[in-house]
Amino acid sequence: MTDADLVILGGGSGGYACAFRAAELGLSVVLVEKDKLGGTCLHRGCIPTKALLHAAEVADYAREGDQFGVKSSLEGIDMAGVNSYKDSIVAKMYKGLQGLFKQNKITTVEGTGRFVGPNTVEVNGERYTGKNVVLATGSYSRSLPGLEIGGRIITSEQALNLDYVPAKVVVLGGGVIGVEFASVWRSFGCEVTIVEALPRLVPLEDEFASKRLERAFRKRNIGFKTGVRFTGATQTDSGVTVNLESGEQIEADLLLVAVGRGPNTAGHGYEEAGVRMDRGFVLTDERLRTNLPGVYAVGDIVPGLQLAHRGFAQGIFVAEEIAGRNPQVIDENGIPRVTYCNPEVASVGLTEAAAKDRYGAEVSTYTYDLAGNGKSNILKTQGAVKLVKAPDGPVVGVHMIGERVGELIGEAQLIVNWEAFPEDVASLIHAHPTQTEALGEAFLALAGKPLHVHG
Ligand SMILES: Cc1cc2nc3c(=O)[nH]c(=O)nc-3n(C[C@H](O)[C@H](O)[C@H](O)COP(=O)(O)OP(=O)(O)OC[C@H]3O[C@@H](n4cnc5c(N)ncnc54)[C@H](O)[C@@H]3O)c2cc1C
Repeated sequence: MTDADLVILGGGSGGYACAFRAAELGLSVVLVEKDKLGGTCLHRGCIPTKALLHAAEVADYAREGDQFGVKSSLEGIDMAGVNSYKDSIVAKMYKGLQGLFKQNKITTVEGTGRFVGPNTVEVNGERYTGKNVVLATGSYSRSLPGLEIGGRIITSEQALNLDYVPAKVVVLGGGVIGVEFASVWRSFGCEVTIVEALPRLVPLEDEFASKRLERAFRKRNIGFKTGVRFTGATQTDSGVTVNLESGEQIEADLLLVAVGRGPNTAGHGYEEAGVRMDRGFVLTDERLRTNLPGVYAVGDIVPGLQLAHRGFAQGIFVAEEIAGRNPQVIDENGIPRVTYCNPEVASVGLTEAAAKDRYGAEVSTYTYDLAGNGKSNILKTQGAVKLVKAPDGPVVGVHMIGERVGELIGEAQLIVNWEAFPEDVASLIHAHPTQTEALGEAFLALAGKPLHVHG
């Protein structure tokens, strides 16, 4: 049908970023999408969840206005109103994205594509060939063996579109998606219990962040059981019963299954065409090449962090690689991670434990409590910033917890990715009163000249 420079299968964060960059570089692009351009992030992921989290924050402020001397109360949550706010953000961004596709003159093909051979994708009986093919079919919500999704047992997709606030929810999984929904529902007045098999919430984060988050959730009356195995759930018309290995049973209106995301690679012809895979993920080298010549993979189907901005970066990388620009390999460790619950958790680089594995026991850390930060006091948020430093080396990890700390990750990721030493950052002036000063103070302390630090 065509002989484009690139045929891209999937128009989510990874696929569309690749399409845009390739078009900018003068390459011809055909992109195949079976649903809506923008993929999980725009329609079922980042954007709608963050809109819900913002509505949750507004609810908290309304409920707690008194502590700032503002007379207000929370009369209730109008889910129709919340959903219309959320959907309007998605619709606006979707329109903008469609405009960008037009502007970049990208040929889009609607339909389910199948990778059928070295450089060919088949859609609706037509074959599209390209000098290169980029696989970008994303991910889906996983469940556990024997746990069927349906009715009162839901994944994030259904959770995003509820038209009521449940009275009682069990969240299975204390990772990013689980704690974000737990946070939203609690702010909306729901009773929430998180069940996590690993010993702590947000188990991929530095232990310090998990401890602080657990403390904050306790204060918010968000229940959680860690190190506990789920054994099954049964549902009736009126509720769901969740069974734990300990013998305990929890009754709820809904069970949210948030146990991770699997690669969406089955049935797309990858394996039959000879693409090397591992447990459903497409294996690539560091230049995102699969084992087949001219075939690349980006985004959630590639093992590693399943984040939209990683997908963007990988898409851009592959476009530049195909255009012969020889881009710099993406350092997975330098990708920032933010969990947008209340309080937020944000980090980049190595945890203390990972740094010790890599550099030995001489690794040093410094933790600055937000109690010493003016802006955080004004916001009445608790939390801290923790730096992890290699022996006689740069700062290799920054970990933060507190309201709004997600916005501080920009500075933290520059520091880690530019391999800055504490002295480099300590000499840079941070505006007062901002939460960025917490980072500034931590670096001053690590450089041996603490300012607002109690002995
Ligand atoms: C609830 C939730 C919250 C999230 N929050 C965040 C966040 O705050 N920040 C963040 O960075 N990440 C977040 N993520 C993760 C983020 O959404 C993903 O990492 C990102 O969307 C992955 O991009 P992708 O291009 O790999 O895949 P997707 O975005 O999943 O796109 C894949 C596209 O391929 C299409 N497709 C699949 N198969 C075919 C086929 N055979 N033919 C044609 N088209 C096909 C799909 O329809 C889809 O549009 C969140 C995810 C979820 C579920």
